[in-house]
Amino acid sequence: AAKGGGRNRFSYFTPTLQVAALNRMRLTNDLRGALKGGQLALYFQPIVHLRTGRIHKAEALIRWTHPQRGMVSPLEFIPLAESSGLIMEIGSWVLRESVQWVRRWRREHHPEFQVSVNQSPLEFQRDDGSYQAWLGELQALDLPGQSVVVEITEGLLLDANSAVSNKLLQLRDAGIQVALDDFGTGYSSLSYLKKFDIDYLKIDRSFTRNLAPDSSDMALSDAIIVMAHKLGLRVIAEGVETAEQRDLLAAAGCDYGQGYLFARPMPAEQFDALLKAQAAQAAQAAQAVQAAP
Ligand code: C2E
Ligand code: MG
Ligand code: MG
Ligand code: MG
Repeated sequence: AAKGGGRNRFSYFTPTLQVAALNRMRLTNDLRGALKGGQLALYFQPIVHLRTGRIHKAEALIRWTHPQRGMVSPLEFIPLAESSGLIMEIGSWVLRESVQWVRRWRREHHPEFQVSVNQSPLEFQRDDGSYQAWLGELQALDLPGQSVVVEITEGLLLDANSAVSNKLLQLRDAGIQVALDDFGTGYSSLSYLKKFDIDYLKIDRSFTRNLAPDSSDMALSDAIIVMAHKLGLRVIAEGVETAEQRDLLAAAGCDYGQGYLFARPMPAEQFDALLKAQAAQAAQAAQAVQAAP
């Protein structure tokens, strides 16, 4: 920095930093009340089976409507929840809420429906007994097998210690499947894929975004899909926004797609209506086949 810039820097940046820190403190405080105040909601985004176009799963995505600020992105408040310890409470709420809905959807619309929930690295790595408590809660919920998928990021598996692999085993024991979220954005060590029992790879939307025939992202997506299938994993592409992306992914053998092309994340009641309409349509189609001469 230029000589003499010091004064300027202080008079300009310090208040800004203070404002940012104050802002974070206020927001963390508000978040504490948000859980109890009913300001948090769970949205659901369809995950579509590419070959049939049917919705088989949904990802649960948390939303916070702040009384003054309106919608606050999880990208902003999840880190605050992590640093303040609120993340465990939020995680329990997400789990209970998701389980309630997936039970209903299995009963009413789709017997094999799955809901996936996100777990941030700090949440997954908690070692103070709170994760054990979370697992206990999970077991007490007595889930139907494979109705819940936990999404973790690959960074977790890189420096995996026995605590991480124990937790993964405990998840499996509780009938939970595991997805690797944002796959391809972390470090490219693939050896953990054979070490851990993973069910799904979610190709990050940074690959989907630039998909075009003969593009390098197409080559990478192709390779990820082939590799995943050889290892017995299924593949979900994130961020599918165009029909061309969907078609390229389907042609490459990708199993599922998720993205604005199909639907944006929506409130649970709206998702419920969507599933209901899909089930009614399927029943009608089956009836038409039966009625045909
Ligand atoms: P994620 O798990 O990778 O979730 C996918 C994000 O991509 C969501 O953002 C979703 O709304 C967005 N998305 C879906 N389709 C498209 C598309 O076609 N185009 C584009 N541009 N974006 C798309 P959202 O809901 O803002 O969530 C952001 C992140 O916050 C999530 O990324 C996840 O890491 C975290 N998150 C959300 N809910 C929870 C939660 O309950 N617990 C934890 N720990 N983290 C959560
Ligand atoms: Mg996710
Ligand atoms: Mg993701
Ligand atoms: Mg992400």
